[in-house]
Amino acid sequence: MHIKTLLNHVTKFKGFVFESAQLDRTRNALLVNVKPRKNTKPVCSKCQSTGPIYDHISDREFWLPPIWSLLVVLRYKMRRVSCPQCNKVTVEQVPWATGKSPITKQFAVFLAHWARKLSWKDTALSFHVSWDVVADAVSWAVKWGLERRNLDNITAIGVDEIQYKKGQRYLTLVYQVDKHCRRLLWIGKNREKKTLYAFCDFLGEERCKSIEFICSDMWQPYIAVIADKMSSALHVLDRFHIVANLNKAVDEVRRAEVKKLKDEGKPAYLKKSRWLFLKKKKRVRGKARSRLRDLLTMNLRTVKAYLFKEDFDHLWTYKCPVWAGMFIDQWTRDVMRHRSLPELKKFARTIRDHKDLILNYFRAKKEYSSGTVEGFNNKAKLTVRKSYGFRSDTIREIALYHTLGNLPLPEFTHRFL
Ligand SMILES: [Zn+2]
Repeated sequence: MHIKTLLNHVTKFKGFVFESAQLDRTRNALLVNVKPRKNTKPVCSKCQSTGPIYDHISDREFWLPPIWSLLVVLRYKMRRVSCPQCNKVTVEQVPWATGKSPITKQFAVFLAHWARKLSWKDTALSFHVSWDVVADAVSWAVKWGLERRNLDNITAIGVDEIQYKKGQRYLTLVYQVDKHCRRLLWIGKNREKKTLYAFCDFLGEERCKSIEFICSDMWQPYIAVIADKMSSALHVLDRFHIVANLNKAVDEVRRAEVKKLKDEGKPAYLKKSRWLFLKKKKRVRGKARSRLRDLLTMNLRTVKAYLFKEDFDHLWTYKCPVWAGMFIDQWTRDVMRHRSLPELKKFARTIRDHKDLILNYFRAKKEYSSGTVEGFNNKAKLTVRKSYGFRSDTIREIALYHTLGNLPLPEFTHRFL
């Protein structure tokens, strides 16, 4: 059987034929010559219309996905077109190429597919290409997918933010959290009003109006834009973000107290206790549990804050918004009475100010699980953390869309995967 037959079996390029193939032992590569079919005209890369051949330029190489550890290289003599539309000489467009890159579309999708499962570095090592080639492949696949994804029927979204560059910078991420489709929809820099307005512009007025449900953080700029642009939707301050804020407040109490104990020359009771106080009590096991039990008998600010946090968890058991509202009233009153817990009081005040939006969580009958946003948030953080090798903000965004965007991939390549 000829290599040609094999290649024709997996992929065909209209207007082109595979010719002879040779093995290049020094490069460990299979070289396949490609020629245009007789009597076909080249296509202009600028305007996609056909025109007469102007001349031939140098041979170019394009890599297909490797087989048996052999690099598969298409060799083709590029033509130039006397384009009647553009009224000038242009380089032809070939159906397998992705711009100036040496990789074919087929190889780009192949690499992008693996780069979802492996790190970009491991993908590069596994398929004997450079990290830059993987980055180019993923960028091309993401661009292809973003241009072709379907944005109809979005009825539920979640607005979230993540920190990067050691917490110095923020990205706003918008997810679709519909039951039929969950994915990352949009990424914006910072977390200002401007950011979320940019999302509304991207989505368009019609689609914004058809959104029925939004969950977000208690972040005022988000709340303001949602009230302005998507007022018909039920806006829920979701459980995941509220719990995260409460945990943050408890940890601030603990950190301040650790410092105070140290300054006063007292024993470091609270050393390495961060997770002990952040975890739910019932999930603390073994040695940690007996340490926690000992700590809870001490008269510490952290312990008080912790007990309030454990108590707050009861809120999520309510089904009826009225009862949940009464619980919030009682809980915030109790916290406000404690002069020694300013960090927690700040949280309680925010809860009180946003009570109505929090109760929407119960009005939505917990239908849209905040677990969806939480899951996305964890994956996004992981992607950003792994992104230390990424050269630019653009690459970081591409990695996020690639991992979480559930983007379509070109179909012509599925035989290579
Ligand atoms: Zn043209």
